[in-house]
Amino acid sequence: MHELSIAHSILSIAERSVPPGIKGTVSAVNLQIGELSSIEIDALRFAFEAIKSKTVVQNAELNIEVIPGEAKCNDCDTVFHMNSYGSCCPKCGCFLVSILKGKSLKC
Ligand SMILES: [Zn+2]
Repeated sequence: MHELSIAHSILSIAERSVPPGIKGTVSAVNLQIGELSSIEIDALRFAFEAIKSKTVVQNAELNIEVIPGEAKCNDCDTVFHMNSYGSCCPKCGCFLVSILKGKSLKC
């Protein structure tokens, strides 16, 4: 379950975002998660809820935007929506594709 370690990383980023000497908390955490990042969003929400008490994010809302996966066929240059690895080009059936978007996680 790597979502728990991701939740811990989000927490440490949020802690660093609060200036030293200020007793503030974070009101919202905004994430962009790529469809091809292999992160389970429900598991991440669960992990975040599990670790957030008594931290700077204890009252924070977790806002998640899913970035659709996008790939380009290396053979015919067709750009298409890709929701899982191993998808082939819908136009020519080629499996040699380059992923353009949807692999990353941004805070
Ligand atoms: Zn193609």
